Amino acid sequence: METYQISPLGTIRSPYKQKFAIPRQPRLIPEARAQLEFSGEFNREEFVRGLADFSHIWLLFRFHETADKGWSPLVRPPRLGGNEKKGVFATRATFRPNAIGMSAVKLEDICYKNGKLWLELSGIDLLDGTPILDVKPYLPYSDSLPDATAGFADTRPETELEVCFSEQAIAFCMKQQNKHPDLYQFIAKVLKQDPRPAYKKSKGGVQNYGMCLYDFNIKWKIENNLNTVLEISHQ
Ligand code: SAM
Repeated sequence: METYQISPLGTIRSPYKQKFAIPRQPRLIPEARAQLEFSGEFNREEFVRGLADFSHIWLLFRFHETADKGWSPLVRPPRLGGNEKKGVFATRATFRPNAIGMSAVKLEDICYKNGKLWLELSGIDLLDGTPILDVKPYLPYSDSLPDATAGFADTRPETELEVCFSEQAIAFCMKQQNKHPDLYQFIAKVLKQDPRPAYKKSKGGVQNYGMCLYDFNIKWKIENNLNTVLEISHQ
């Protein structure tokens, strides 16, 4: 079989430092800001000439964190509660041949400073350090298909969860206003989507969790339909 060599053109700098709690698709959390830093021969402004006229772009990337963990022809989509198997090509699973992902994200800005080229993006669903293989403008007349159907993933995932913050957590977010003005909303939306693994969702009682966003440790508990952010601290 023919093989190809692919070199990344840049790397994503993202607030998501671990897979846990990353949304399953782009644009579900608009507050998720990231940078695409171009590297090597791609660190040149001419590669993005004209791109500023587009509001959204496609990112093709490598699922680098899981790429060496293999794949199988059948996967259990979390949308189906993790109980039903679908063919890998009927899903957007990370464990797939060639480990290639694609996300349409908002292009906020194009920056070039001190010899460094990067794109400011929002609504991303990518882990920090994700290698980017290609960038293409999003073309609404062709890429938007209002009549398309999407099987088990036909609607945007919604949950019944409420999210509240402890006094300490609110005060912490307030202190970050300058650097991270959307921190409160960002955390609330990440938790609202219920990042728990499917098998935990049917379990009752109080469940405690932790996650990392930016360089913050966030601890929360979930009881019934209420997520409470207990404590936020610096790493
Ligand atoms: N929008 C892309 C797609 O459809 O190809 C990604 C969908 S995939 C279901 C989204 C999940 O990929 C995220 O929830 C996160 O857990 C995982 N993920 C994001 N970046 C990753 C990376 N660099 N390596 C491995 N997994 C990653």
